[in-house]
Amino acid sequence: MMDNCPICEESGYTRLFTSTDTLYGTTKKPFHVVTCARCGLLRLHPQPSAEDLAQFYPANYWFPGEGLAEKYRRVVLRDHVRFVARALAGCGETGPVLDVGCGGGLFLSLMRERGHRAVGLDFSPNAARIAWKAKGVPAVCASLCEGSPIREGSCAAVTMFHVVEHLYDARPYLDAAREMLAPQGRLIVQVPNADSWQFALFGKNWNGIDIPRHLVNYRARDLAVLLERSGFEIVRRKHFSLRDNPAGFATSAAPRLDPMRRRVRGVKESWQKAVVKDGLYFGLVLASLAPAAIEALFGRGSTIMVEARKKA
Ligand SMILES: [Zn+2]
Repeated sequence: MMDNCPICEESGYTRLFTSTDTLYGTTKKPFHVVTCARCGLLRLHPQPSAEDLAQFYPANYWFPGEGLAEKYRRVVLRDHVRFVARALAGCGETGPVLDVGCGGGLFLSLMRERGHRAVGLDFSPNAARIAWKAKGVPAVCASLCEGSPIREGSCAAVTMFHVVEHLYDARPYLDAAREMLAPQGRLIVQVPNADSWQFALFGKNWNGIDIPRHLVNYRARDLAVLLERSGFEIVRRKHFSLRDNPAGFATSAAPRLDPMRRRVRGVKESWQKAVVKDGLYFGLVLASLAPAAIEALFGRGSTIMVEARKKA
């Protein structure tokens, strides 16, 4: 059952390509990305076991951030903050924003600076601790669908940024999000876009495929089916993300320059070399702004962000 297509339950598929964890090097095992024979959804097949999967997440996968890196992240996250703030203003609910997969809590701390109440959930106890201690954001190490400490019907918004593609089955999470939301509350979901020009260009080297951590690779239509099935309708869609799309382009084109990849892999380099690499990477991100904006303009940006409300 688990190995069938999580959207249409079809068992037939065609193999698209085989690759391994080229980004963080947590494993050398080969993984196959396949296309569903019926609906065309892309997924890893067979899926790694939960035990194996835990080994594929580097210890510092979520990133606390410090100094210049944190300043940069605050700037590029404003895009996410604005998208959610607009959803909150439009829905008229006043409950808290619940961020699922909150990491070190930077996004929620920016929401709090704008006067919104916020609470975070994360699988990582370390991430939840940092969110509390460094960012003053109430965060709990818990799963949204198993004993979440949040009261049903209380949230003005539930946000899931780059979470859904990591799940074997997104449905219980989306169902739980629906229960947590106030009547007019909004669900905000962001995933990499498997129908993007970046994927067409870079193929298995596109960082949005992130083998073996991304179990399912969604297109806009797949996300719509998924949300519809859990009782949501999409009211707004965006294909550009200032934080993700230009950086995705840069990392796909020159993975060895990516600061997070170098940190996770513990690459030994002199400080001079580190500064040069950081500078080149940042230059590449800047140069990627225009192509990333153009692909988004044609609805083929490398991420999809949607605002959805409960269906009447
Ligand atoms: Zn399918």
